[in-house]
Amino acid sequence: MKYYIITHGCQMNKSDSERVATVLREIGYRPALKESEADLVVVVACSVRQAAVDRIYGKARALAKLKIKNPYFVSVLTGCVLPRDKRKLAEKFDYVFSIDKISDLKSEILNLKSNENDYFKIKASHSNDFSAFVPIMTGCNNFCSYCAVPYVRGREESRGVKDILREIKGLAKTGYSEVILLGQNVNTYNPKDVKSFSKNNPYKDYFAALLWEINQIKGIERIFFTAPHPKDMSDEVISALALPKMLNYLHLPVQSGDDEILKKMNRNYTASDYLKLVKKIKKIRPNISLGTDIIVGFPGETKKQFQNTVELYKKADFDISYHAMYSPRVGTVAAKMKDNVSRQEKKRRWNVLQKLMEKNTFKKNQIYLGNIVSVLVDGYEKGCYVGNSREMKRVRFKGDGVIGKMFNIKIEKAHTWILEGEIAYDK
Ligand code: SF4
Repeated sequence: MKYYIITHGCQMNKSDSERVATVLREIGYRPALKESEADLVVVVACSVRQAAVDRIYGKARALAKLKIKNPYFVSVLTGCVLPRDKRKLAEKFDYVFSIDKISDLKSEILNLKSNENDYFKIKASHSNDFSAFVPIMTGCNNFCSYCAVPYVRGREESRGVKDILREIKGLAKTGYSEVILLGQNVNTYNPKDVKSFSKNNPYKDYFAALLWEINQIKGIERIFFTAPHPKDMSDEVISALALPKMLNYLHLPVQSGDDEILKKMNRNYTASDYLKLVKKIKKIRPNISLGTDIIVGFPGETKKQFQNTVELYKKADFDISYHAMYSPRVGTVAAKMKDNVSRQEKKRRWNVLQKLMEKNTFKKNQIYLGNIVSVLVDGYEKGCYVGNSREMKRVRFKGDGVIGKMFNIKIEKAHTWILEGEIAYDK
């Protein structure tokens, strides 16, 4: 029996998929290369935007056709699904389960009894053997007005320090060199077992303390986390960004550069708070590469308010940004606001930011020319090795690379989306 997992959405969903894979392997399923070869397909859904929800309905129709060919075929839905969609989708999938009740997958499909009823207790089947997603918390208490996550994943729940460190030490022993810590709001990490922190840990802030502990683990060379909330970036977390194994990249979602829109979004900071934060971060880590998320066309956003976002963008000097055209999510506070920015105007604003990003990214990439960056190789494409630098810049090089290993690369060409270079051998 074979399974296939379709993952929509963010890294948290990718991590969910890795846990689902573990459960399926435990009960005897093996991975299929494509969904048409599978006896069981799991859709790990995302409800962040209506377009994402529409894709789930589309997928349900496609999977129904597989059932005609294979009467034993089973379709399963999990991930971020709003209760309202869940009720409707329950008619279209064989099983729908909440990701925090992952053990239901075993009992529902194979009618097996399981003691594993905790999301964090299911070990992930990582998709490679050098970089691993490690969830440190689930849920969110923030209720940003446009976001469905608090409704679909519930309130924040932090994983124990001991459990996280045990998993990461195990990963290091089996050759993993990079960990990506996941949570909807990682910098409010608040575990119950705070006594598990080392006595000589210099930090009081629990997230900063966790970063320090992971920095002590032999074999782990690169640590990244996503996503932090700007309002919760304490001085200690900023200071922990300078710990030696932290990637030289921070993804700090801003969403808008206009105070009124930020208030309507319930983000709890102003544009000036955000810029002050960026300044503080760059004081601690001057060359840090900075990424963000921005929503354009939020209900009521005027051209002037959008222009404020453009101004903030230039001041923050982002290396990379991900832009979304606002679309209402049923059940959220923003869905009750009038979605009065036309699709055409949203697209125009999206294009303005996209062009700004491309110009800025190209300009910022030029500083790497002639410099050496450390790259964790994750692939081989068209005769070249590829991987991410510590600044999360995509780097390509020819020569004797090895997937899963780190190489120092001297940059010779800097394009918008990729840097090119060659291995810098010690002399
Ligand atoms: S911080 Fe806001 S955007 Fe992020 S998951 Fe929580 S509610 Fe959603």
